[in-house]
Amino acid sequence: MPSSHKNFSEKERAFKVVVYQKSPEETLVFTPLSEKIFCKNCKENQAILRISHPPIPLCRSCFLAYFEKKVKRNIEKFKMIKEKDRVGVFLSGGKDSSVLFGVLKSLYPEREIIPIFIHLGIGYFSDRALEVVERVCERFEARPYVYYLKKEKGFSIDDFIFTHFKNKVCAVCGTVKRYLFSKIAKELNLTVFATGHHLDDLVSTMFTLFIHGDFEGIKRLSPVSPPLTSQQAKKIKPLYNIPEIEVFYYGVLKDIPIEALSCPHSEKAVVKKYKKFIDLMEKQNREIKYQLLSVFLKKLSPLVKSRRENLFFCENCGEPTSAPDKICSFCRRTAILERTEREKIEINREEISEIIEKFNEKNKILIILKDFQKKQVDLIKDNPFKDFETFEVSSEEIMDNSKGFRKFLKKFKLKDRLVFILSQNPEKAYSLVLKLRKTGVRAYFVKNFP
Ligand code: SF4
Ligand code: ZN
Repeated sequence: MPSSHKNFSEKERAFKVVVYQKSPEETLVFTPLSEKIFCKNCKENQAILRISHPPIPLCRSCFLAYFEKKVKRNIEKFKMIKEKDRVGVFLSGGKDSSVLFGVLKSLYPEREIIPIFIHLGIGYFSDRALEVVERVCERFEARPYVYYLKKEKGFSIDDFIFTHFKNKVCAVCGTVKRYLFSKIAKELNLTVFATGHHLDDLVSTMFTLFIHGDFEGIKRLSPVSPPLTSQQAKKIKPLYNIPEIEVFYYGVLKDIPIEALSCPHSEKAVVKKYKKFIDLMEKQNREIKYQLLSVFLKKLSPLVKSRRENLFFCENCGEPTSAPDKICSFCRRTAILERTEREKIEINREEISEIIEKFNEKNKILIILKDFQKKQVDLIKDNPFKDFETFEVSSEEIMDNSKGFRKFLKKFKLKDRLVFILSQNPEKAYSLVLKLRKTGVRAYFVKNFP
């Protein structure tokens, strides 16, 4: 196997356990093999991990080469990238797109691969994701093209919590991202853009869409989606048949900055439920994911591709759409925001009295996350919360535990109250406000308090 990774010697390098907490329920772990086993491929170096297909131990260099070879084979098999193509990668800050960017940079060192980040305006999360993307780009000596949704379009994904999409934010976010992928690709003259979907993503999404009868969605899962018009770019998924765990291993072993970021809107994803289900099935049948992939590629995909949809152009933005009323789903969904009053999610101390007055709310409550000292608040001069009913809660009890959250809502009868939240952890407090707002509670996080 060829190896392009000369920067570390296998003997010098000490490998550590790396834990990646994807979500409260999902963890990926890299545990370097401690037994003295030689790599099955080079028979020279100490093996560091075991891959499952085929089940063999490999050293770092051989694993990286194995992974890159697999990606290259995918690209060649589906003719994903041609000589003249201008290629962009949408980085999300998550490990998959970062690894995709890294592997493409390693496979095509001479080519310009453009890293793109869409700042969706998801409080704290988008900023942190951008930081990670910047570090990933630095690692490969590149600079990301950053598109700020709020600046360009005047809204952010968080604004949808004030609409009837409040419990389907991911669905709207998907529409917005697809629209922007296509728009940005056009602006940057890309002919191809790549996304980091891997085997686990693909089979769990396919399963979910199938159960919901969403064949248009299934169409989009193909490793290659040809452009609908001559001005669009082709979409490719070079990692489509690679298990998530191997994507993670590649990130670890290639020193790609990967950080577990969790979007405050992600908890409701139905896909996760099916992913869990498929992971369970995998315990009985180790081939299940590959079997599902094969059924998808050989049977389902040709079938859905042959379904002809009428293609129109959106009367508002000009993008292709299959909607008979000629308004694309991006325009339809974002138009709702124009009719919606959007409130603040976090406020400064000075804004507290204004809000209290505005709502003339007698039923006020102050919620203090346990990382903040209640005593501190009591001692504050001109304490704006003097006549507030005040409670301390721990974020773990209510944030990661839906039963706990429901109990908390009920116990404090939050639905009928004006809620202010104090915390030393703005990210947590912001997420809690999002969660409360989605259930109809009028909540604010008071930042920089006192
Ligand atoms: Fe968008 Fe949902 Fe992903 Fe958050 S989790 S970035 S809202 S799709
Ligand atoms: Zn449109």
